[in-house]
Amino acid sequence: MGILAAIAVPVYGHFMEEYKEDLCEVNRVGMARLYQEFLIVEQIDHSSAVFVEFSHSRMDGEVCPVGGELNFVDGTVECSVHGDNDSEDEEEENKDSEVPFL
Ligand SMILES: [Zn+2]
Repeated sequence: MGILAAIAVPVYGHFMEEYKEDLCEVNRVGMARLYQEFLIVEQIDHSSAVFVEFSHSRMDGEVCPVGGELNFVDGTVECSVHGDNDSEDEEEENKDSEVPFL
């Protein structure tokens, strides 16, 4: 286990970010499937409150490695940091204009 983990977790930052994004996506795909099964089994409809309750009570640990906020949209779980499964490039918010680095 130790050796596999060492190989699977690259040390350098850029690879680490890609690894986190991949991990987030894998977790979200699994979560979406579990959540939809949960809705069927419990015979309830999706709502944001149900989804939040589900994510707290049914998921072990963080789904997103960087703590992105999760939403269930059109059958998939979206991450506020990593987007949805199509992984379109999210537009950068104008954070840079607020705090100039001099
Ligand atoms: Zn994420």
